[in-house]
Amino acid sequence: MANPLYDGLFGRHLGQKTVFLQLQDGTTFTHGQFLQQAAQYAHVLTDFGLRPGDRVAVQIEKSPHSLAIYAACVQAGLVFLPLNTAYTARELSYFMEDSGARVMICDPKSEESLAMIAQVTGARLETMDAEGQGSFAQKAVPHPLQFATVSRDAEDLAAFLYTSGTTGRSKGAMLTQNNLLSNAEVLTRHWAFSDSDVLLHALPIFHTHGLFVATNIALLSGCKILFVPKFDQEAIIALMPQATSMMGVPTFYTRLLDDPRFDRALCQHMRLFISGSAPLLAETHKLFEQRSGHPILERYGMTETNMTTSNPYEGERRAGTVGFPLPGIELKITDSATGKTLAQGNIGEIEVRGPNVFKGYWNMPEKTAEELRSDGFFMTGDLGMVDADGYVHIVGRNKDLIISGGFNIYPKEIETVLDAQEGVLESAVIGVPHPDFGETVLALLVPSSDHTPDLDAIHAHISQSLARFKLPKKLILLPKLPRNTMGKVQKNTLRDQFRDLFAKS
Ligand code: AMP
Repeated sequence: MANPLYDGLFGRHLGQKTVFLQLQDGTTFTHGQFLQQAAQYAHVLTDFGLRPGDRVAVQIEKSPHSLAIYAACVQAGLVFLPLNTAYTARELSYFMEDSGARVMICDPKSEESLAMIAQVTGARLETMDAEGQGSFAQKAVPHPLQFATVSRDAEDLAAFLYTSGTTGRSKGAMLTQNNLLSNAEVLTRHWAFSDSDVLLHALPIFHTHGLFVATNIALLSGCKILFVPKFDQEAIIALMPQATSMMGVPTFYTRLLDDPRFDRALCQHMRLFISGSAPLLAETHKLFEQRSGHPILERYGMTETNMTTSNPYEGERRAGTVGFPLPGIELKITDSATGKTLAQGNIGEIEVRGPNVFKGYWNMPEKTAEELRSDGFFMTGDLGMVDADGYVHIVGRNKDLIISGGFNIYPKEIETVLDAQEGVLESAVIGVPHPDFGETVLALLVPSSDHTPDLDAIHAHISQSLARFKLPKKLILLPKLPRNTMGKVQKNTLRDQFRDLFAKS
């Protein structure tokens, strides 16, 4: 009887009195306590009549208890389906229906609004709040603290994560036990995690970064997690002297740079800062290293592939790049139209293959066939380039590519030039419909604090370094860029907002 993911990550810690999670107020949960709670939850779920492979949807606040539901699902052979806490009842109705989840665990506050959806989809509705209280936890109390682990194969499904769905419907990415375990093993080794590490964890746990990358590495290495509900500047500054490592999205790092308390002394005990989920500006990388003495290690991955590339732990962490393919993972740059591999130095679509790559999209065989080639390569939809030293550069999303008058324009190239202009904090370049060119370039600029950038001067300046066809037709100032919870700029929102700017009147 085996369950590779449970045995590999959780089972190894059964009965251990070592601290797994430490909360902001100092409360701790040992590995043993955490696993006992998970075992009780596994009893409740199986008592509901759930069978291996059934989906358990969860939309609750980040807490040790919500994380224990993940462990419970793995132990009971169920498919864990965490959902962004920002999703509304209308959005949840799609996820419930599409996934066929048999149980939905929600915050007591949303019970009323979800009752109807649960009734329609036939799911059982249970509640759990941020303190781990609610109908689900109540049912767990009488259960034994041990649960006989359900046998699973490495290729069986362990989790569904819905992609953020910036175009069209969200897709349920089916992740197997081996997808998760193999990636945790590679990353733990690659980033040299050990049981003497203390990981500062301020990411959400409904997303691959905070859930799988951070948690699975901590479990595999046996390190302790400082578990913070969200990125709260005060808490991060207070806890950093106890930590050895942090995983964050780029906005965590820009916020730290904005805080005068963040300096070398504060991170004296730190070994590693990791960034991902959105591009880290080369400028931020440099400023961060100057201030803290630490070059941030940037890596690249996505829901469907787990982590794919990483800058080296030892060796040069090159700003503005996402490093090299991880051991055991293949990466190539292809021409999206023909699928042919391009020569080094060319920009094209990033394709990846390896044990990290998901099994496909739930209920969407055509979509799966479009993106997952029969030879196992997954077309990521990201555009990239491999430089002469083998470092991978992300140039943007395929769908963000601008085609103006027949020319391909990569927003990242223009953004890099704009970000370097006086008074500009950051920028987003998008394509908007244009009667003559099909599409044209629009640049949205966020001023740095206390600056009012001179747009005419910027335009004159960038026209010296960018070919005419790449020059933004217009520069517009915005107070900030729309971002999702993972710090990704939502270009689709910007495209919608400015779609009629150049329309013929
Ligand atoms: P998600 O599935 O939500 O994790 O989003 C994955 C997408 O985030 C990737 O396809 C990339 O477009 C983007 N992404 C992740 N890491 C990076 C990175 N280090 N630099 C640039 N983009 C990234």
